[in-house]
Amino acid sequence: MGLSKTIWTNPSEYLRSVQPENPVLFFAPAALQSAARRFIDGFPGMVTYAVKSNPGEAVVENLAAAGIRGYDVASPFEMHLIRRLAPDAALHYNNPVRSRSEIAVAVELGVKSYSVDSRSELEKLIADVPAEGTEITVRFKLPVSGAAYNFGAKFGATADVAVGLLKRVAEAGFIPSITFHPGTQCTDPAAWDSYIRAAAGIAAGGGVIIARLNVGGGFPSHRLHGVVPQLEATFALIDRVATEAFGDDRPLLVCEPGRGLCGDAFTLATRVKAVRDDAHVFLNDGIYGALAELPLIGVIDRTRVVTPGGEARRGAAMPRIVFGPTCDSVDRLPGDVMLPNDIAEGDYVIFEGLGAYSTVTNTRFNGFGELTLATVLSLRP
Ligand SMILES: *Cc1c(COP(=O)(O)O)cnc(C)c1O
Repeated sequence: MGLSKTIWTNPSEYLRSVQPENPVLFFAPAALQSAARRFIDGFPGMVTYAVKSNPGEAVVENLAAAGIRGYDVASPFEMHLIRRLAPDAALHYNNPVRSRSEIAVAVELGVKSYSVDSRSELEKLIADVPAEGTEITVRFKLPVSGAAYNFGAKFGATADVAVGLLKRVAEAGFIPSITFHPGTQCTDPAAWDSYIRAAAGIAAGGGVIIARLNVGGGFPSHRLHGVVPQLEATFALIDRVATEAFGDDRPLLVCEPGRGLCGDAFTLATRVKAVRDDAHVFLNDGIYGALAELPLIGVIDRTRVVTPGGEARRGAAMPRIVFGPTCDSVDRLPGDVMLPNDIAEGDYVIFEGLGAYSTVTNTRFNGFGELTLATVLSLRP
């Protein structure tokens, strides 16, 4: 996947001129920088970027230019990437399970913030990381809903275990902090309310005044017309509840959005390979490509269909079964997809909001997945 040096006006101009056979992800740096500014201006604390959602170099460079000074990293690759592209930024190593060799890389690179959710992994950190000036953030989970899927299924200590971990962090001379992740694409701000109050309960239970509370990622992107992300309202809720829950011991706040920053800065154009016997639509991209997330977190209804000449298809919307290009029968978009009834072979189906968990989970299964990245001034058609 190469980043072209040309900057196009918008996706339509590119599609008309290039008529691409392979899927194209359009990246609007201006949209990414404005998402970054929205977080920096609105969030009542430090904004960091969860690199795993889209580790593209142009993404990191634009976020750094927009003022993002901290990065949530999970692997030596991501740590080296950020040290190279944003050398002065803080690295928050928030993958709670690490091998000893991974910990050694973090120490070497000067990482000063780590998260944990278990005794065994905390003892590894205490043994291998110098305590002086280093933060250990205890990650906990609650059985709350509101997100697209349950993040607590893999990581996060229960509140009881978190109390013990927090005490041990403080005793061992590290800076004690708490974190949680409410789950990705979390459209219900009430999740943060429950988590922040529970975090205050954990700190009080351990008798520990925490330095920082990292309220995770999970901030939604705009996937459905009818569900518009209420970011500023969520920021205000986080601010208010942090004061109510912690009072005079209110910690500094951190957030680490992935999707919320990069999701809406990219749009995907797929091409209709066939409308088989006037029924099923076959696209040149699917769940092994940039649409990998759709079966996990649901469809995107912010789509449009254009002819090869760039005209919008305006036929009445009708439900279609939509398959990706591979010969695997699970390569199908979930449910029925509403598409104009005059859709035809050679048209482009454009999906908004494909910046997160798309380039990075794209595979070359069955020889497909040759994804082009094109830079545009605007994603508007
Ligand atoms: C993946 C991840 C994030 C980002 O999640 P989004 O839902 O993309 O905002 C933040 N923090 C941690 C620890 C993660 O694993």
